[in-house]
Formats: sequence, structure tokens, C-alpha cells
Amino acid sequence: MTTQLPPRPPEGVVMWNLNTTCNYRCSYCTQRFLDDRTRWARDTPRFLEGFRRLPGRWEIKLSGGEPFLHPTLMEVVAALAKMGHRVSVVTNFSASVDKLDHFLAAAGSALRVFSASLHREYVSTDEALAQFLEKARYVLSRLPAGATFNVTCVATRANLPELPALAQHFAAAGIRFKVQPEKQNRDVIPYTVEEQAQLVTLGGHNDLGVIAPSFEGQPCWAGALAFTLDDRGAAWRCYPARRYRREYLGNFLDSTFQLYDLARPCQYAYCNCTVPIERGMMASLGRRGG
Ligand code: SF4
Ligand code: SF4
Repeated sequence: MTTQLPPRPPEGVVMWNLNTTCNYRCSYCTQRFLDDRTRWARDTPRFLEGFRRLPGRWEIKLSGGEPFLHPTLMEVVAALAKMGHRVSVVTNFSASVDKLDHFLAAAGSALRVFSASLHREYVSTDEALAQFLEKARYVLSRLPAGATFNVTCVATRANLPELPALAQHFAAAGIRFKVQPEKQNRDVIPYTVEEQAQLVTLGGHNDLGVIAPSFEGQPCWAGALAFTLDDRGAAWRCYPARRYRREYLGNFLDSTFQLYDLARPCQYAYCNCTVPIERGMMASLGRRGG
């Protein structure tokens, strides 16, 4: 395995879970064991101050819970765009077309990635799927230059057989469709060899070609140019760091927050941090299974 230092990425990325609130309760939700699913980042001005302090331009990826339920989402998005940062979003796509329009207007040319999650436990009928696709086409038609749109779906065992047809369905509309392996108790569920092959054929984890990426021991820029942020301001190097309560970077809202200066070796066997992977924060794609 290589230990080569990857080139310094030109901009950083914040993976901000700005609320735990969600109008869905998916059976595979990694947050469903949280004690409190009603939390949201209440102190918008202090968060915005934190983003203003970041050195250079960053991509702020907004997710939750469901970010469109956040009371000050539009204000946050407009302010981030004005600061010169970029904005990405992951949503369950249940927001009204009016609300989506409002978001697109607030983000303007700062929008980078719009990712709509297809939750079949809630979008279960042909009619609901047709409405989802119609909305997807609508957003796709209104993207600013340089922004991308994709649809993701969790590959539960129930979903797996229908995913190839769904992938074709979206591809026919010019929409990129990505699958995500199901996780339970922090790890990918034990798919059979046949199921693993199906998943890899569908692109693996978010089109990365593997089911469970691993960069353990390799240098990674997360911590210096990427971090996760929760609704209370707690910042961790990445999702596995937060999960295992290691590599805490302090609270984003006060002077305890500190980024690493350089890339450091990865301490985790399984990396599910798609955005840092896609932004080249590690040298080469490893794998653990699949
Ligand atoms: S929509 Fe997302 S955050 Fe909400 S329950 Fe489903 S997986 Fe969890
Ligand atoms: S788990 Fe992924 S994002 Fe986190 S340090 Fe390792 S390689 Fe980097």
C-alpha cells in the first residue's frame, strides 16, 4: 500500500450535519439511535462567523437529519455563498418545489453538488417515484454552471433487486444514480458474495467502485482540509473519527477549534467519507471487502 502524500487539495470541505430533525424514519438510518432527533444548529450567526474564519474557499456540504427542515437554511446558504464558499446539499427531497427554488436562488452560482436521496420506504409507489423523477428533472434543469445533481439510494436487501432498473430509469433522464451500501452498527451489513458482486456492478459505494473503501495508514488531508461538524459545533476529523470519538478538532464556535497543518495517517479501517475521497484527499483508493 502506498504512503505517498497526495497533493494538497485546492479547497477544503466541511461535512455539516446541521440538524438531527427529519420527517422520515428510515429503517437503515445511521442516526436513528440518537437520543434526540429534534436538534438543530440554533446559533446561525456564530456558525457563520466560524465559516468566515476558515482560511480560503471551502465547500460546505449540508446534511442532517433533513437540512430542508432547518429554520434558517436559506439564510445560511445565502451567507455562505456571499462569503465565497461553495454549497452542496444532501436531502431526502421531500421539500416542496417552492422551497427547492428558494434554495437554488440562495445558493446561486455557489452550488456545487445537489444530492437527492431516494428512500423507497417513503417513495414506494410508481406515482411517488414519478413525482420524485419530475422534481429531479426540475432541479437538474435549474442548476448553475459547474454544479452537479445526483440521486442516491441505499442498497438494502429489499432494494437490491430493483436497483439496476432504477439506475436505468434515472440514466434515461440524464441523471446520475449512485448506490450506498447499507450500514448497521457502524459497519456495512454482511452482504453475500452474489450481493457484493451486484453492488460492485452498480458502482459500489457512491460509484467509487468498491463497497468498503479503506485508506488505513495512508496520509489523508481530512482534519486539515476536511472535517465534520454537528449541530452543536463539535468538529471531528471525519465521520469515522466522530464515530470512534477520536481526533476531535474542538468546537467550531469558539477558540478551541483547530485544524491540522498537514495530512496525517488515517487511523480507520473503513472510510465512508465520500466527499473527501472524491476531492482527492487520499493518495489511492484502498478497500476492505468488495
Ligand atoms: S431521510 Fe435520511 S436522515 Fe431521515 S430517516 Fe431517512 S436516512 Fe435518516
Ligand atoms: S477514514 Fe477516510 S476521511 Fe477519515 S482519515 Fe481515514 S481516509 Fe481520511
